[in-house]
Amino acid sequence: MTDLQAIVDDIHRELAPRFGEGKVADYIPQLARVDPKQFGMAVVTVDGAVHLAGEAEKAFSIQSISKVFTLTIALGKHGEAIWNRVGREPSGSAFNSIVQLEHEHGKPRNPFINAGAIAITDLVLAGHTPKEAIGEVLRFMRFLADEEDIVIDRDVAQSEQATGYRNFALANFMRSFEKLSHPVEHVLGVYFHQCAIAMSCRQLARAGLFLAASGTNPLTGHRVVSHMRARRINALMLTCGHYDGSGDFAYHVGLPGKSGVGGGILAVAPGKASVAVWSPGLNRNGNSLLGSIALEMLANRTGWSVFAA
Ligand code: GLU
Repeated sequence: MTDLQAIVDDIHRELAPRFGEGKVADYIPQLARVDPKQFGMAVVTVDGAVHLAGEAEKAFSIQSISKVFTLTIALGKHGEAIWNRVGREPSGSAFNSIVQLEHEHGKPRNPFINAGAIAITDLVLAGHTPKEAIGEVLRFMRFLADEEDIVIDRDVAQSEQATGYRNFALANFMRSFEKLSHPVEHVLGVYFHQCAIAMSCRQLARAGLFLAASGTNPLTGHRVVSHMRARRINALMLTCGHYDGSGDFAYHVGLPGKSGVGGGILAVAPGKASVAVWSPGLNRNGNSLLGSIALEMLANRTGWSVFAA
């Protein structure tokens, strides 16, 4: 039997000399001042075993990992109709590219690049005030992680709002193509707050467990989405979850995953486990450098892959 705790401990120990590698996101002061030498990892298996290493209990800014969960909410509200608003193809360009959006007449490539996530947030907003929509996303995270003390870092949200020129450009652009139904300020207000949710690796791994277990959280018994929907969300994470580093992540790790500029990555080993890693230093694609390496080590040592039995 695989000793998962030993594997997680080994990864933490072997990577320790490299802590601090990569470049911390510096577009807002709250992320720029995060100590780059931190590393956390949590593996939660579908039968409920929890394996932690490093700073797995420390909350960090989940940023774009939130896009997996707003996609789940939007699919629940609007079903497959969401694909009229966003595509399902890898973007092959930077997470906040505006050029592609113009070529494609305001229909973003996929729900995980910024433009696509903003379009998805517009769908989450349907029938809600921005405040209610933010509350819905936060409640969903608490429900999935089965923990009440998950909060939004208001300073991060405010800084994003104050400096989010490019996201405003993307949103205005989509609005000009009539691809957003709500005022840009409302949509981005929700978007910046979902990105500013702070969670630990342990909480995040628990929140993602339904994706590893055919749509049902095996710890609480709650059916979150259907088997087919979990499979499809995983497919999108695999093909689009790491921006233009998605192919590389699939090659090295071989598991669906979603990264955020806060240095977190959520990865899903279907039928086995949900994994969250956090290390703030990013690689040139804006994905956690050591987090990606840790996941590659985990996949190699456990044999977990969606490409091999
Ligand atoms: N809040 C960030 C932005 O929209 C999220 C980017 C990310 O995590 O990749 O710029």
